[in-house]
Order: sequence, then C-alpha cells, then structure tokens
Amino acid sequence: MSLLELDGVTLKFGGVTAVNNLSMSVNEGEVFALVGPNGAGKSTVFNMISRFYRPVRGSIRFDGEDLLNHRAHEIANLGIARTFQNIELFERATVLQNLLVGRHRHRRSTLPEQLFFAGRIRAEEREHRHAVEEVIDFLDLQVYRDKMIAGLPYGVRKVVELARALATKPRLLLLDEPASGLSVEETQDMRWWIDDIRRQMGITVLMVEHDMGLVSKVCDRVLALADGAKLAEGTPAEVQSHPAVIEAYLGT
Ligand code: ADP
Ligand code: MG
Repeated sequence: MSLLELDGVTLKFGGVTAVNNLSMSVNEGEVFALVGPNGAGKSTVFNMISRFYRPVRGSIRFDGEDLLNHRAHEIANLGIARTFQNIELFERATVLQNLLVGRHRHRRSTLPEQLFFAGRIRAEEREHRHAVEEVIDFLDLQVYRDKMIAGLPYGVRKVVELARALATKPRLLLLDEPASGLSVEETQDMRWWIDDIRRQMGITVLMVEHDMGLVSKVCDRVLALADGAKLAEGTPAEVQSHPAVIEAYLGT
C-alpha cells in the first residue's frame, strides 16, 4: 500500500523549474531513495513534503490525506519527520534537550490547554521523556545523553539529528543525505541504523543519498532525478545501470 504519493508535482523558483511534473509513490514499510546530481531537485522534494514550499501544480498525499491542506507545523503531528542536509541542532544544548525540543514540536496540547490541564500535561511530559529515552537507548546514545552538541564529533551529531526525528515517532522518516560527511565506518553504522529503523520500528524511509553503495544496501527502490524530472525508477541495480542515469552522472 502506498503511504506517500506525489502526483504531477511542479515547483519553480523564478525562472528555474526545480521540480518538473514529478510523480512518485512510496509504499508503507519500504526504504526508498531519491538520487541525482547536485541541483536535481531532491531537497526541494523534501521541502514540499515538509510543506516549507508549496508546489505550483500537482498533489501530495500522505496516508490518503492531502498534505497541501496542512501547514508545515502540522506535518510532525501527521506522522512525518525529517533530518536536514545541513545538521540543524541547538549547539548550546545537550543531546537530551535537543531531543525533548524535537518532541515538543510534536506536542498535542495548546498553551491554554497546558495552563488549564496541568495534570494531563504531566502525563504528556512523561510520554515525551519516555519516547526520548527510548530513542537514546535504541541509537546507543547513552554516553552522549547529557553532552553539549557543540563538543560532539560530526558523526555523532548525525546520529543525534536522526534521533531527534525518530523521537517524534513518525510513520514516515525523510533523511536528507544521512551519510554525507561520514567516514566509511560511520556510513556502515548508518546502514545498520536505517535497517533497524525499518525492521524493528516499522518506519517507512524516504532518503536522499549520494553514496550508491549505501543506497544499494538499504533501499528497496530508487528514483533518479535530473533537472527536476524523473530519469529512471526501479531497484538500485536497475537504476544504476540505466543509460539515462549513467549519462546524467557523467555530465554529458
Ligand atoms: P538537490 O537537493 O538535488 O541538490 P535542490 O532541490 O537543492 O537540489 O535544488 C534544485 C534547484 O532549485 C537548483 O537549481 C537550486 O539552485 C534551486 N533552488 C533550490 N532551493 C531554492 C531557493 N530557495 N531559491 C531559489 N532556487 C532554489
Ligand atoms: Mg540537496
């Protein structure tokens, strides 16, 4: 069953068509990759799903719900979480604090409710704590739990960024270049995390990634984009051997 469905989606920035009549569908439970050269429109696709940008044409549906009827701050509550190509964490806060802030964006109650229903809020607070501690354990972040982000190595920050998204308990996780800047060894770890997220947590993953080695190991299906349009779609092997994809990567 398809969880996320884009149909004929187009977005322009001034004269540049960043995404051109793109249709794609991500099934529940799969790991799906968007690949393509720099400037192909991959991050723009993520930004439309997260509702930072609104397409000029086409539709985006998540679990049957029209995402274009929702605002960016409602997306987490619908069950979609994302990481960013450039890590976006609070530098002067601890790992735990960053994850709790991530959860709070997901909070159900409004400020007046918080003032009037303090008891319920305490229960909600416990639920936030629990979700966050669970993710810290799951991603083996216990030793970094109370450390400030500013002092952490890049590879650890990448895992914290992943943890922050997971703490919202999404059904769909969008990962923008999860392996960029990672060493070979850290990329291997990231591969196991993504596998576990899918298998143990049952979360559907849509990722943008340049490392085709990683893509072929973790992804069921791949869609290659160039100049905002679909070049090829299929298994990692099919897409990698597709003539149009080879040509786009060679820059001819
Ligand atoms: P990718 O993530 O595949 O490298 P992007 O989605 O970031 O590509 O960019 C696709 C195209 O849209 C590029 O030509 C880029 O310059 C342009 N673009 C992306 N974001 C903006 C923006 N906020 N304003 C203007 N142009 C943009
Ligand atoms: Mg990008």
